Amino acid sequence: MTGTVPFSASHPSQLSVQDELRMENRLLRARLEEILEHAHRNQNIMERHQKFELQIIGASHFRELITSVFSSLATTSELDVVNLILLDPRQELQQMLHDLRINLREFPHMLFVRSERELQTPSISTTKPVLGPYQRHLYEQFFRSYSKKPASVALIPLIRQGRLIGYLNLGSYSIDRFLPTMATDFIERLGSIIAICLENVINNERLTYIGLTDPLTNVSNRRYVEQRTLEEIGRARRQGYGIACMYLDIDFFKKINDQYGHQGGDDVLCEVARRIKAELRLSDTLGRFGGEEFVVLLINANLQDAMLVAERIRRSIAEKMFALSEAGHCNCTISIGLTTVSEKLNRGDEAIVAKEMICRADRALYDAKRSGRNMVRCE
Ligand code: GH3
Ligand code: MG
Ligand code: MG
Repeated sequence: MTGTVPFSASHPSQLSVQDELRMENRLLRARLEEILEHAHRNQNIMERHQKFELQIIGASHFRELITSVFSSLATTSELDVVNLILLDPRQELQQMLHDLRINLREFPHMLFVRSERELQTPSISTTKPVLGPYQRHLYEQFFRSYSKKPASVALIPLIRQGRLIGYLNLGSYSIDRFLPTMATDFIERLGSIIAICLENVINNERLTYIGLTDPLTNVSNRRYVEQRTLEEIGRARRQGYGIACMYLDIDFFKKINDQYGHQGGDDVLCEVARRIKAELRLSDTLGRFGGEEFVVLLINANLQDAMLVAERIRRSIAEKMFALSEAGHCNCTISIGLTTVSEKLNRGDEAIVAKEMICRADRALYDAKRSGRNMVRCE
């Protein structure tokens, strides 16, 4: 046989072309698998994020929203650090949440500041997210609730109607998780959604709060006190402590109205509420029960403790004149009826215990009035 060389797999040049093709094919396949895996991962992340967004959009209460942000966002976005800073210039938000029985200690990574200045970072943008390595001199105030600081961070300003309401701060122990060069659209979107959700739940809580607050004096109203009395009687029973109840009534208030006008009367009512409140602890409850009558609940207090507080309240009102917005000054006194429910007496139907407690305090008040006013009487 002459001439043609038979086609052979072992021909060196043929082999290299085939191998090259195979190799290229393998590489392509590997790359494709990588892209597919990446796409799957991205889809997975998108799905988790969508789920997270639905969860926070559905939250109608503050506690529910904040719990979702802290518990779900860290897992959804694989973050090591999540914290929230809320601007609360007059500390109204904290006061309202406290009055609505939302325990802020449940959320150690939610911080309140009175102004941006407290964050001591004039160079941080208040409109756009900031991404990059953690820098102590810039970000310390933002991440002060974490002892282990992240390596890279994203600071996301939360803005509603052009106003900065806080910051959502994310952090990772990995240095290349948040790079200054990264696109920020996703993070901006997250910030916008969280800002809207925050505003929504705060407004909802505000509506509840308004329904439970006396508009003139800003202390709780009767509805709130009655609701709270039942809760506190239940808690005192479970935890085995006593509670005290005061019924307070301004003396000769009609005369104050007659002499200084309705506005003068209103001024006195507001100042009386302030003075009573100033003598109480945060855990105590003060409510305006109607007209010129107030009720106070003292938690974990016996008769002796309660007598001291009542006497302090009485004196704080009697001993200092009241400045009126339109008509100079006036004097005012208050009578106080006091009673306690010791742990031994706290039995049976809670609603009946609550009602009887308030009735006893009211009877003691009547006794104080009959005995000459400007005094504390117990039953
Ligand atoms: P006493 O020492 O026996 O308690 O006498 P009093 O005058 O304080 O009691 P009385 O119940 O006779 O009068 C209460 C007055 O409080 C009558 C009412 O006009 C007035 N009052 C009730 N609510 C308000 C309010 O919101 N603003 C003002 N300015 N007055 C109010
Ligand atoms: Mg009265
Ligand atoms: Mg009165």
